[in-house]
Amino acid sequence: MIALLANPEQIGHRSESHPERPERVTAILEAIKTSSLGLAPEPAPPAPEALIHRVHDPSYVAMLDRAASSGGGFLDPDTYITPLSMLAARSAAGALVEGVNRVLEGKVKHAFAVVRPPGHHAEHAQAMGFCLINNIAVGLMAAREKGIRRIAVLDFDVHHGNGTQHSFENDPEVFYASTHQYPYYPGTGGAGERGAHGNVLNVPLASGTGDALFLGAWEKKIGPALTAFRPELLLVSAGFDAHEDDPLAGLEITTEGYRTLATLIKGWAIDHAGGRTVWALEGGYNLRALGDSTVACLEVLMHNTTEGDQRVDTAGDRRYNSGSPD
Ligand SMILES: [Zn+2]
Repeated sequence: MIALLANPEQIGHRSESHPERPERVTAILEAIKTSSLGLAPEPAPPAPEALIHRVHDPSYVAMLDRAASSGGGFLDPDTYITPLSMLAARSAAGALVEGVNRVLEGKVKHAFAVVRPPGHHAEHAQAMGFCLINNIAVGLMAAREKGIRRIAVLDFDVHHGNGTQHSFENDPEVFYASTHQYPYYPGTGGAGERGAHGNVLNVPLASGTGDALFLGAWEKKIGPALTAFRPELLLVSAGFDAHEDDPLAGLEITTEGYRTLATLIKGWAIDHAGGRTVWALEGGYNLRALGDSTVACLEVLMHNTTEGDQRVDTAGDRRYNSGSPD
Protein backbone atom coordinates (compact mmCIF):
# COMPACT_ATOMS: atom_id res chain seq x y z
CA MET A 1 0.00 0.00 0.00
CA ILE A 2 1.22 3.42 -0.88
CA ALA A 3 0.11 7.02 -0.33
CA LEU A 4 0.67 9.39 -3.25
CA LEU A 5 0.78 12.95 -1.95
CA ALA A 6 0.99 16.17 -3.91
CA ASN A 7 0.67 19.89 -3.28
CA PRO A 8 -1.62 21.67 -5.76
CA GLU A 9 -0.25 24.91 -4.28
CA GLN A 10 2.98 24.23 -6.21
CA ILE A 11 1.40 25.83 -9.27
CA GLY A 12 1.91 29.29 -7.73
CA HIS A 13 5.66 28.84 -7.45
CA ARG A 14 6.99 29.66 -10.90
CA SER A 15 9.45 31.94 -12.64
CA GLU A 16 9.73 32.63 -16.35
CA SER A 17 12.11 30.20 -18.13
CA HIS A 18 13.31 28.60 -14.88
CA PRO A 19 13.92 24.82 -15.08
CA GLU A 20 12.33 24.25 -11.64
CA ARG A 21 8.77 24.76 -12.88
CA PRO A 22 5.22 23.53 -12.18
CA GLU A 23 5.22 21.35 -15.30
CA ARG A 24 7.66 19.01 -13.50
CA VAL A 25 4.93 17.92 -11.10
CA THR A 26 2.13 17.91 -13.66
CA ALA A 27 4.25 15.70 -15.95
CA ILE A 28 4.82 13.20 -13.14
CA LEU A 29 1.17 13.14 -12.12
CA GLU A 30 0.11 12.72 -15.76
CA ALA A 31 2.55 9.81 -16.17
CA ILE A 32 1.13 8.18 -13.04
CA LYS A 33 -2.42 8.75 -14.28
CA THR A 34 -1.73 7.08 -17.61
CA SER A 35 0.13 4.18 -16.02
CA SER A 36 -1.52 1.08 -14.62
CA LEU A 37 -0.62 2.04 -11.05
CA GLY A 38 -4.13 3.11 -10.11
CA LEU A 39 -2.83 5.82 -7.79
CA ALA A 40 -4.46 9.23 -7.39
CA PRO A 41 -2.66 12.12 -5.69
CA GLU A 42 -4.01 13.49 -2.44
CA PRO A 43 -3.28 16.97 -1.10
CA ALA A 44 -1.80 17.46 2.36
CA PRO A 45 -2.17 20.29 4.86
CA PRO A 46 0.75 22.69 5.32
CA ALA A 47 3.49 21.54 7.66
CA PRO A 48 3.02 22.69 11.26
CA GLU A 49 5.10 25.81 11.82
CA ALA A 50 6.70 24.26 14.92
CA LEU A 51 8.11 21.42 12.79
CA ILE A 52 9.47 23.86 10.20
CA HIS A 53 11.14 25.75 13.05
CA ARG A 54 12.83 22.56 14.23
CA VAL A 55 14.72 22.62 10.92
CA HIS A 56 14.95 26.31 10.08
CA ASP A 57 15.71 29.47 12.04
CA PRO A 58 12.34 31.20 12.63
CA SER A 59 13.85 34.50 11.53
CA TYR A 60 14.80 32.85 8.21
CA VAL A 61 11.22 31.68 7.69
CA ALA A 62 9.99 35.18 8.54
CA MET A 63 12.43 36.59 5.99
CA LEU A 64 11.00 34.24 3.34
CA ASP A 65 7.47 35.34 4.22
CA ARG A 66 8.47 38.99 3.92
CA ALA A 67 10.18 38.37 0.58
CA ALA A 68 7.07 36.61 -0.71
CA SER A 69 4.60 39.20 0.53
CA SER A 70 6.66 42.03 -0.90
CA GLY A 71 6.38 40.62 -4.40
CA GLY A 72 9.16 38.04 -4.51
CA GLY A 73 12.29 37.95 -6.60
CA PHE A 74 15.55 36.03 -6.56
CA LEU A 75 17.07 35.08 -3.20
CA ASP A 76 20.29 33.99 -4.92
CA PRO A 77 21.16 33.61 -8.61
CA ASP A 78 19.31 30.24 -8.76
CA THR A 79 16.54 30.50 -6.24
CA TYR A 80 13.36 32.50 -6.74
CA ILE A 81 10.40 33.26 -4.53
CA THR A 82 6.95 34.49 -5.58
CA PRO A 83 3.98 35.82 -3.59
CA LEU A 84 2.58 32.26 -3.59
CA SER A 85 5.83 30.37 -2.98
CA MET A 86 5.45 29.99 0.76
CA LEU A 87 2.05 28.35 0.34
CA ALA A 88 3.76 25.91 -2.00
CA ALA A 89 6.76 25.38 0.26
CA ARG A 90 4.68 24.85 3.42
CA SER A 91 2.40 22.37 1.63
CA ALA A 92 5.39 20.55 0.11
CA ALA A 93 6.85 20.05 3.58
CA GLY A 94 3.34 19.20 4.78
CA ALA A 95 3.13 16.34 2.31
CA LEU A 96 6.23 14.84 3.92
CA VAL A 97 4.68 15.22 7.36
CA GLU A 98 1.48 13.60 6.15
CA GLY A 99 3.40 10.80 4.47
CA VAL A 100 5.46 10.10 7.59
CA ASN A 101 2.36 10.10 9.77
CA ARG A 102 0.44 7.71 7.53
CA VAL A 103 3.39 5.33 7.29
CA LEU A 104 4.05 5.37 11.03
CA GLU A 105 0.36 4.89 11.80
CA GLY A 106 0.52 1.76 9.68
CA LYS A 107 -2.02 2.96 7.12
CA VAL A 108 0.46 2.47 4.27
CA LYS A 109 3.95 1.00 3.90
CA HIS A 110 5.18 3.72 1.57
CA ALA A 111 4.44 7.36 0.89
CA PHE A 112 5.66 9.34 -2.13
CA ALA A 113 5.38 13.12 -2.13
CA VAL A 114 5.38 14.55 -5.65
CA VAL A 115 5.96 18.11 -4.51
CA ARG A 116 7.89 21.26 -5.25
CA PRO A 117 9.75 23.46 -4.55
CA PRO A 118 12.40 20.86 -3.71
CA GLY A 119 14.15 20.96 -0.36
CA HIS A 120 17.50 19.25 0.08
CA HIS A 121 19.69 22.31 -0.56
CA ALA A 122 17.82 24.51 1.95
CA GLU A 123 20.06 25.25 4.93
CA HIS A 124 19.06 26.15 8.50
CA ALA A 125 18.94 29.83 7.57
CA GLN A 126 19.59 30.05 3.85
CA ALA A 127 17.66 29.33 0.66
CA MET A 128 19.69 27.89 -2.17
CA GLY A 129 19.59 25.56 -5.16
CA PHE A 130 15.87 26.18 -5.94
CA CYS A 131 15.01 25.16 -2.33
CA LEU A 132 13.23 27.21 0.35
CA ILE A 133 12.18 24.74 3.08
CA ASN A 134 13.94 21.41 3.53
CA ASN A 135 11.00 19.07 3.03
CA ILE A 136 12.74 15.80 3.91
CA ALA A 137 14.23 17.33 7.07
CA VAL A 138 10.80 18.51 8.20
CA GLY A 139 9.48 15.01 7.53
CA LEU A 140 12.28 13.59 9.64
CA MET A 141 11.28 15.87 12.51
CA ALA A 142 7.69 14.62 12.17
CA ALA A 143 8.98 11.06 12.58
CA ARG A 144 10.88 12.13 15.70
CA GLU A 145 7.64 13.55 17.11
CA LYS A 146 6.17 10.08 16.64
CA GLY A 147 8.96 8.51 18.68
CA ILE A 148 11.12 7.18 15.86
CA ARG A 149 14.78 7.63 16.72
CA ARG A 150 17.03 6.01 14.12
CA ILE A 151 16.28 7.43 10.68
CA ALA A 152 18.18 7.12 7.42
CA VAL A 153 17.98 9.66 4.59
CA LEU A 154 18.97 8.25 1.20
CA ASP A 155 19.59 11.01 -1.36
CA PHE A 156 20.09 10.03 -5.01
CA ASP A 157 19.56 13.46 -6.55
CA VAL A 158 22.47 14.33 -8.85
CA HIS A 159 23.35 17.21 -6.52
CA HIS A 160 24.64 16.79 -2.98
CA GLY A 161 22.00 17.53 -0.34
CA ASN A 162 24.06 20.03 1.58
CA GLY A 163 21.11 21.32 3.59
CA THR A 164 20.04 17.88 4.76
CA GLN A 165 23.59 16.82 5.61
CA HIS A 166 24.24 19.99 7.58
CA SER A 167 20.95 19.62 9.47
CA PHE A 168 21.88 16.18 10.77
CA GLU A 169 25.63 15.65 10.50
CA ASN A 170 26.03 16.02 14.27
CA ASP A 171 23.09 13.75 15.08
CA PRO A 172 24.20 10.15 15.76
CA GLU A 173 20.64 8.90 15.23
CA VAL A 174 20.44 10.11 11.62
CA PHE A 175 22.33 8.42 8.80
CA TYR A 176 22.62 10.54 5.65
CA ALA A 177 23.88 8.89 2.46
CA SER A 178 24.20 10.53 -0.94
CA THR A 179 25.43 9.78 -4.42
CA HIS A 180 25.98 12.87 -6.53
CA GLN A 181 27.98 14.21 -9.42
CA TYR A 182 31.24 15.68 -8.11
CA PRO A 183 32.73 18.16 -8.45
CA TYR A 184 29.47 19.92 -9.16
CA TYR A 185 26.90 22.21 -7.57
CA PRO A 186 26.77 22.90 -4.60
CA GLY A 187 30.42 21.86 -4.10
CA THR A 188 29.88 19.94 -0.86
CA GLY A 189 29.67 16.16 -0.50
CA GLY A 190 33.28 15.05 -0.68
CA ALA A 191 33.99 11.52 0.51
CA GLY A 192 35.83 12.96 3.52
CA GLU A 193 32.63 14.49 4.91
CA ARG A 194 31.56 11.71 7.31
CA GLY A 195 29.56 13.52 10.01
CA ALA A 196 30.49 13.89 13.66
CA HIS A 197 29.66 10.23 14.38
CA GLY A 198 30.49 8.62 11.05
CA ASN A 199 26.80 9.07 10.29
CA VAL A 200 27.29 10.66 6.86
CA LEU A 201 28.31 8.71 3.77
CA ASN A 202 28.96 10.60 0.56
CA VAL A 203 29.82 8.79 -2.63
CA PRO A 204 30.90 11.43 -5.14
CA LEU A 205 30.67 10.27 -8.76
CA ALA A 206 32.23 11.59 -11.95
CA SER A 207 30.29 12.86 -14.93
CA GLY A 208 29.41 9.94 -17.22
CA THR A 209 29.21 7.42 -14.37
CA GLY A 210 26.29 5.34 -15.71
CA ASP A 211 24.09 2.71 -14.06
CA ALA A 212 26.75 0.14 -13.19
CA LEU A 213 28.95 2.35 -11.02
CA PHE A 214 25.96 4.24 -9.61
CA LEU A 215 24.13 1.11 -8.50
CA GLY A 216 27.37 -0.47 -7.34
CA ALA A 217 27.94 2.51 -5.03
CA TRP A 218 24.51 2.05 -3.51
CA GLU A 219 24.75 -1.70 -3.09
CA LYS A 220 28.38 -2.08 -2.07
CA LYS A 221 29.12 1.12 -0.18
CA ILE A 222 25.88 2.56 1.13
CA GLY A 223 24.00 -0.73 1.67
CA PRO A 224 26.45 -2.16 4.23
CA ALA A 225 26.65 1.15 6.10
CA LEU A 226 22.87 1.33 6.20
CA THR A 227 22.70 -2.21 7.53
CA ALA A 228 25.18 -1.32 10.29
CA PHE A 229 23.13 1.75 11.21
CA ARG A 230 19.88 -0.23 11.67
CA PRO A 231 17.35 2.48 10.72
CA GLU A 232 13.75 2.32 11.89
CA LEU A 233 12.54 4.37 8.91
CA LEU A 234 13.94 5.21 5.47
CA LEU A 235 13.43 8.66 3.98
CA VAL A 236 14.36 9.09 0.34
CA SER A 237 15.37 12.32 -1.41
CA ALA A 238 14.34 11.28 -4.89
CA GLY A 239 15.80 13.61 -7.46
CA PHE A 240 15.83 12.33 -11.02
CA ASP A 241 18.35 14.80 -12.44
CA ALA A 242 21.00 12.08 -12.70
CA HIS A 243 18.91 10.71 -15.60
CA GLU A 244 20.70 10.36 -18.93
CA ASP A 245 18.16 12.74 -20.53
CA ASP A 246 18.41 15.42 -17.86
CA PRO A 247 19.63 18.77 -19.17
CA LEU A 248 21.37 19.90 -15.96
CA ALA A 249 23.88 17.14 -15.19
CA GLY A 250 25.77 14.18 -16.61
CA LEU A 251 25.62 11.02 -14.48
CA GLU A 252 23.80 9.14 -17.29
CA ILE A 253 21.45 7.01 -15.19
CA THR A 254 18.63 5.21 -17.02
CA THR A 255 15.01 4.80 -16.01
CA GLU A 256 15.76 1.11 -15.44
CA GLY A 257 18.65 2.13 -13.22
CA TYR A 258 16.24 4.03 -10.99
CA ARG A 259 13.94 1.00 -10.97
CA THR A 260 16.80 -1.16 -9.71
CA LEU A 261 17.74 1.39 -7.06
CA ALA A 262 14.13 1.50 -5.86
CA THR A 263 14.25 -2.30 -5.57
CA LEU A 264 17.35 -2.04 -3.40
CA ILE A 265 15.78 0.65 -1.22
CA LYS A 266 12.59 -1.35 -0.79
CA GLY A 267 14.66 -4.39 0.19
CA TRP A 268 16.62 -2.43 2.78
CA ALA A 269 13.37 -1.07 4.21
CA ILE A 270 12.01 -4.60 4.55
CA ASP A 271 15.25 -5.81 6.14
CA HIS A 272 15.66 -2.99 8.65
CA ALA A 273 12.74 -0.61 8.87
CA GLY A 274 9.54 -2.62 8.88
CA GLY A 275 9.28 -2.06 5.14
CA ARG A 276 8.61 1.67 5.66
CA THR A 277 9.77 4.33 3.21
CA VAL A 278 8.80 7.97 2.64
CA TRP A 279 9.94 9.60 -0.59
CA ALA A 280 10.26 13.27 -1.52
CA LEU A 281 10.70 14.56 -5.05
CA GLU A 282 13.82 16.71 -5.27
CA GLY A 283 15.27 17.63 -8.71
CA GLY A 284 14.80 16.30 -12.24
CA TYR A 285 14.31 18.59 -15.22
CA ASN A 286 13.47 16.43 -18.24
CA LEU A 287 9.72 16.03 -18.06
CA ARG A 288 9.51 12.63 -19.75
CA ALA A 289 12.40 11.22 -17.70
CA LEU A 290 10.77 12.52 -14.53
CA GLY A 291 7.47 10.81 -15.32
CA ASP A 292 9.00 7.53 -16.42
CA SER A 293 11.44 7.32 -13.50
CA THR A 294 8.86 8.15 -10.86
CA VAL A 295 6.45 5.57 -12.29
CA ALA A 296 9.27 2.99 -12.29
CA CYS A 297 9.97 3.62 -8.60
CA LEU A 298 6.26 3.51 -7.72
CA GLU A 299 5.86 0.24 -9.61
CA VAL A 300 8.60 -1.26 -7.46
CA LEU A 301 6.99 0.00 -4.26
CA MET A 302 3.53 -1.25 -5.26
CA HIS A 303 4.33 -4.52 -6.93
CA ASN A 304 7.12 -7.05 -7.36
CA THR A 305 6.75 -8.30 -3.83
CA THR A 306 4.97 -11.02 -1.95
CA GLU A 307 2.61 -10.51 0.95
CA GLY A 308 3.82 -8.91 4.13
CA ASP A 309 7.40 -8.05 4.82
CA GLN A 310 9.23 -10.71 2.88
CA ARG A 311 12.45 -9.68 1.25
CA VAL A 312 12.24 -9.10 -2.49
CA ASP A 313 14.47 -11.33 -4.54
CA THR A 314 16.50 -8.87 -6.58
CA ALA A 315 18.87 -11.44 -8.01
CA GLY A 316 17.60 -10.69 -11.49
CA ASP A 317 18.40 -7.02 -10.97
CA ARG A 318 22.03 -7.51 -9.96
CA ARG A 319 23.61 -7.78 -13.33
CA TYR A 320 25.38 -4.48 -12.71
CA ASN A 321 27.67 -6.04 -10.10
CA SER A 322 30.42 -6.71 -12.59
CA GLY A 323 30.90 -3.03 -13.21
CA SER A 324 30.61 -1.76 -9.66
CA PRO A 325 33.32 -0.11 -7.60
CA ASP A 326 34.47 -1.37 -4.23
ZN1 LIG B 1 19.36 18.14 -8.07
